[in-house]
Amino acid sequence: MPVIHVLPELLINQIAAGEVVERPASVLKELLENSLDAGARAVEIELESGGVGRVRVTDDGGGIARADLMLALARHATSKIASLEDLEHVASLGFRGEALASIASVSRLTLTSRPPDARHAWRVEATAEVVAEPLPASAPPGTTVDVRDLYFNTPARRKFLRTEGTEFAHCEEVFRREAMARPDVAFTLTHNGRLVWRLPPQPLSARVRELLGEEAAAALLPLDESSGNLRLHGFVASPAFSRTGRDQQYLFVNRRFVRDRLLAHAVREAFHDVLHHERQPAYVLYLEIEPGLVDVNVHPTKIEVRFRDPRAMHQFLFHALSRTLAQTRAGTQVTEAVSSGPAPPLRWQPSHPQTAMALTSGEPAAFYDLLFGRSSRDAESASAQAVQQPAQDPQAPPLGFALAQLSGVYILAQNQHGLVVVDMHAAHERIMYEKLKAALDGERISTQRLLVPASLIVSALEGAAVQEHAAVLERLGFEMANLSPTTVVVRAVPAPLADSDPVGLARDVLRELAEFGPTRVLTERRDEMLATMACHAAVRANRALTVQEMNALLREMEATERSGQCNHGRPTWTQITSAELDKLFLRGR
Ligand code: ADP
Ligand code: MG
Repeated sequence: MPVIHVLPELLINQIAAGEVVERPASVLKELLENSLDAGARAVEIELESGGVGRVRVTDDGGGIARADLMLALARHATSKIASLEDLEHVASLGFRGEALASIASVSRLTLTSRPPDARHAWRVEATAEVVAEPLPASAPPGTTVDVRDLYFNTPARRKFLRTEGTEFAHCEEVFRREAMARPDVAFTLTHNGRLVWRLPPQPLSARVRELLGEEAAAALLPLDESSGNLRLHGFVASPAFSRTGRDQQYLFVNRRFVRDRLLAHAVREAFHDVLHHERQPAYVLYLEIEPGLVDVNVHPTKIEVRFRDPRAMHQFLFHALSRTLAQTRAGTQVTEAVSSGPAPPLRWQPSHPQTAMALTSGEPAAFYDLLFGRSSRDAESASAQAVQQPAQDPQAPPLGFALAQLSGVYILAQNQHGLVVVDMHAAHERIMYEKLKAALDGERISTQRLLVPASLIVSALEGAAVQEHAAVLERLGFEMANLSPTTVVVRAVPAPLADSDPVGLARDVLRELAEFGPTRVLTERRDEMLATMACHAAVRANRALTVQEMNALLREMEATERSGQCNHGRPTWTQITSAELDKLFLRGR
């Protein structure tokens, strides 16, 4: 019979470290948040070997009294909350009291601190189990936490660490987020002795410009909206500056960087009709809300939050952003025609019917040939019948037969009820999406080797995803390899997407993997990612389709589940009945 026993303290901390200390970047995040909570005005970060060798953070904050030094390293010891009441209104970044204990259990940690009124500093050293008594030390007021040799005593975790470059890239992203959250605080960052960032205290706009770069900054529109006790401020990039990845999306709730589905959804909705759906908006947004109205204790790393009134939050964010974006509308290339609802979907130009209806297969004769498989000799008589035939044939396919392509966007077809208008891109995208879903449901998506491999430049994080997540990429139908940490060669793509641009496709998938990791990509984010992939393959507007291709598309739509809506919920086709057409021409009255 197995006996039940209480786990040793060290092991408990190491288990907690599994949740909180995923990699050097998580150490950096916890240390930076402690410094900010301590009221630091200047924070200095020194990293070595991507943070695996060392993460050292020095601040000029309030410090820790000698009597509390040992406690600071103990689990569930915090100065930030004392009761449930406090927890429900917590305004500090930390409150769980487990970061230092967890980090200390998987590294060699030294904590040196001096409150402003102390005559000198005190230092404690913790190497896994052993926490020595504090010793006097010399240091200016503030705190230094020095974390060396991460995972030296937990080889199983060390195995998951990636190259120095990858780990550094993760650290730098953490740095960017914290620095963006607090422009009033000065930061410096060095890596292996080399200065990477030096940021003075500065206005928010200047901080954002430094961290995002000039190109993005030039496109940023300021925004500041309040409603009751809610405030949203910051910047959104005008839709013209959109991205293919989510790498420039920063959202802070009470100065805490979060990834929140609800808020992200509100942002996406606001951009919905000003941005092509495969493009990603860039933004830096700060939501200020009374701490009691948001629960930050949802996730060990606090990256997710829960709002007391999610609907109200969604509404507020959506409307605040929509108002800002409305200012940009006049100058941007936005088609508002593709709206849902049964409004007349076609604006007929009676004086230019020929230019509006271009037959893409050239001769009308050839067109009817394709449609009914007749020889061109019969074409003329066929043209008269064509109008009748589908209406009388109960076997006729529901979406009928293609007549022509309109404006490079729509397929016009005729079925037994009258005219069918199909948004060809939306329809094709849906079909590709359903195909990919089905393929992934069975084992994996089949692969098509490229005749000419394509290469692309990516970020260090995305580059790292190539080796890190090779198995997932393979399941998705890709074959990629690193030529360098930031150069990737694509050798094979998913077979259903063989005709799409391999570079854009690979880029989007790597971004997704780098950001969300393989597990989420294959579970909760799976459909979103497949939709993005499908979008690459879908026929672009303005591509001329032959009638054959158009009919093939109509048949695939009929055979595809949920093909009545595109992946974004807009209709893919609409019917205009003969009766409606008759009405337009005042026929039969
Ligand atoms: P938490 O931040 O959740 O309270 P931590 O384990 O990160 O837990 O830190 C424990 C305690 O150590 C904090 O509550 C705080 O009192 C103290 N502390 C940690 N880092 C600093 C720092 N840089 N300056 C002042 N106090 C600190
Ligand atoms: Mg903390």
